This record gives sequence, structure tokens and C-alpha cells, in this order.
Amino acid sequence: AGLVVAIDGPSGSGKSSVSRGVARELGLRYLDTGAMYRAVTWWMLQKGVDVGDPAAIAARAGEPSLTVGTDPGAPAIAVDGVDVSGPIRGPEVTSAVSAVSAVPEVRHRLVAMQREIIARSLETGGIVVEGRDIGTVVAPDAPVKIYLTASAEARARRRSAELAGTTVERQKAELARRDTLDSTRGISPLTKAADAVELDTTPLTLDEVIAEVLRIIKE
Ligand code: C5P
Repeated sequence: AGLVVAIDGPSGSGKSSVSRGVARELGLRYLDTGAMYRAVTWWMLQKGVDVGDPAAIAARAGEPSLTVGTDPGAPAIAVDGVDVSGPIRGPEVTSAVSAVSAVPEVRHRLVAMQREIIARSLETGGIVVEGRDIGTVVAPDAPVKIYLTASAEARARRRSAELAGTTVERQKAELARRDTLDSTRGISPLTKAADAVELDTTPLTLDEVIAEVLRIIKE
């Protein structure tokens, strides 16, 4: 048996850095489910699919072939053999990803892939999985569930430090827009699982958050 740690929360809450740090510390695999939704979105844009048309997205949801790396030191993702680790962080993908993620056919396929990756990781000790619906939908039986939050200001500051050519104000607006779309969609909206431990990362450094998550795991 292996350990599954589910880490959910909105963007900018620190999920990726925390999840990678915890996985590295414990020698576990790492899965960034947001990167999978971003990769499918990149593919849709590349193919000229109208991302404003859920039926058009649904019709092609089965086509992109994803290769998902689970090394916390070097997470990589490819679509149809093309490494898209860079382009999936660009503004085009970021602004379209919530619409693509709201399409049930996309979610069903990616959730099935995520469950396979989790099952495979159990042979090597387990995995830290980050996303929006890990504790609620993808791995509802995970023994450890963390829900990360942070103030709108802190999240926007972190995001703009990661991205070139943007401002805290612009990031705040973009995060608010994506939050609303991600938490009001009909399928798997962003919500805290009833049995998740909520952790507000606003006043904490990355190392402090990692230490707190490791403490929760050891409990
Ligand atoms: O975590 P990240 O910001 O990269 O996620 C990008 C988008 O992917 C989110 O805004 C959300 O729309 C979608 N997503 C999702 N379910 C997940 C992970 C991400 O719907 N488990």
C-alpha cells in the first residue's frame, strides 16, 4: 500500500510549490492535475476548436494523447508527443482553461487517467496530487486531504512574481474571474472536502507550509 495526499485549493494558494516540496521530502510521486487541463486546453486552441462552444470541446475531448510525468523534481507534460510544459503557462491557455475544464467529457477522461496514475504510484510508495477536486472526486478515499487558501492579495502577488509582464492588479482580476468560473460550474466545482484540513497560507513562508503539511501527514 502507498500514501495518497490530496491537495486542493484555488490558484495562487501555493499548491504546486507545496505539493512538490512535500512529495520530494517524502520520496513520493507528484501529479499536477491542473497541468492536464491546461494541456488539453492548449491542444483545443492549437486545433482551432472554439473554446466558447462546450459541444465542440466535448466532441474532441477523446483525441489529445497526454503523457504525464510524476517526478516532483522535474514535472513534465506532453500532448501528442510535444512537450507543452512552457506553453501551458501562457495567457491564452490560462484564460481558456476554466471553460475547457467545465466540459464533463473532458473531466471524465482526465479523472480516469488521474486515477490510473494514482493506482500505479502505489507500487512505489504513493503520490501527492494537486488540483481542485482531488479530495472530493478524484481520490475521495485519500487518507490525507489538505485545502489551501490565501488572501486575494497574497495569491495575486505570488502569481505576478511567477509571470513576466503583468501586474498584481491584473492578476487579482484574472484570479477572481477564474475562481468564479471554477467554483460555480455544474460539474466538480472547487469546494473543500468535508474531511479536509484547511490551511491559510497567507502569513506563512513556503517552508512553513510544507512543514505544516508534513506534520498533518504524520498525525
Ligand atoms: O492549478 P492550475 O491553476 O494550473 O489549474 C488550471 C485550471 O484547471 C483551473 O483554473 C481549473 O479550471 C482547472 N482544474 C480543474 N480541476 C483540477 C485542476 C485544475 O478543473 N483538478
